[in-house]
Amino acid sequence: GGAIRFDHVGFAYDPERVILKDVSFDVPAGKMVAIVGPSGAGKSTVARLLLRFYDVTGGKITIDGQNIRDVSQHSLRSAIGVVPQDTVLFNDTIFYNIKYGRADATDAEVYAAAKLAQIDDFVRALPDGYNTMVGERGLKLSGGEKQRVAIARTILKAPPILLLDEATSALDSHTEREIQDALDRVSKDRTTVVIAHRLSTIIHADSILVLEAGRVAEQGTHGELIAKN
Ligand code: ADP
Ligand code: ADP
Repeated sequence: GGAIRFDHVGFAYDPERVILKDVSFDVPAGKMVAIVGPSGAGKSTVARLLLRFYDVTGGKITIDGQNIRDVSQHSLRSAIGVVPQDTVLFNDTIFYNIKYGRADATDAEVYAAAKLAQIDDFVRALPDGYNTMVGERGLKLSGGEKQRVAIARTILKAPPILLLDEATSALDSHTEREIQDALDRVSKDRTTVVIAHRLSTIIHADSILVLEAGRVAEQGTHGELIAKN
């Protein structure tokens, strides 16, 4: 599961100012889509509509053919794993930081999630800053590594859809690449990935949607979009 369809979606926070005029796109199950476009284009709004923080004012959004209006908030929350921009790590190993929220997970499941997020080489380490109490050498995690802990934590819950709203974050290109490589592997493992992104440097996505003036101005792979422009 995890196929997403935006079908002629319209949206306005305020009836005087339409944000999304007519947005249609399809994300087949297990594919990765990146939503890009200038600041204020409505990328985060698309993420919020998918989570049903707001209802569309026109058209519809479906997940596996079902209108999300007819899905309970609980089912929607289990279907969509949200990877937060800022991950709070607590005073325990990365292993337990990943396991957080899935107490019943087996070690093998935790390791599998860590491997997908490409952090399996330091699962047993403690995050930096917590080491003195335990007397072990801590691990200074980069922003990208922290985010990959969040990705592992979210995929351990096995949602069919993973949502990242990076519309306002400014990651350096190295971190960016690390996260995209991890997401690429997650997506190939049959999780649908939706990423709202500020930059057009997204290269791995199966499909890139360019939002402009409330519509999908362009859609294609990175190569296709480069060739057109
Ligand atoms: P992006 O993620 O592409 O930068 P957003 O989806 O955050 O764009 O915002 C799209 C437009 O909607 C912007 O003009 C923004 O000011 C407006 N907007 C965002 N959130 C709200 C809100 N809660 N109430 C009213 N307007 C909003
Ligand atoms: P709660 O149901 O506990 O009130 P929230 O509605 O605040 O939770 O948020 C639920 C999840 O959705 C959190 O992980 C949060 O990071 C994420 N989230 C909140 N706002 C957005 C947004 N605009 N886009 C994407 N994810 C969001």
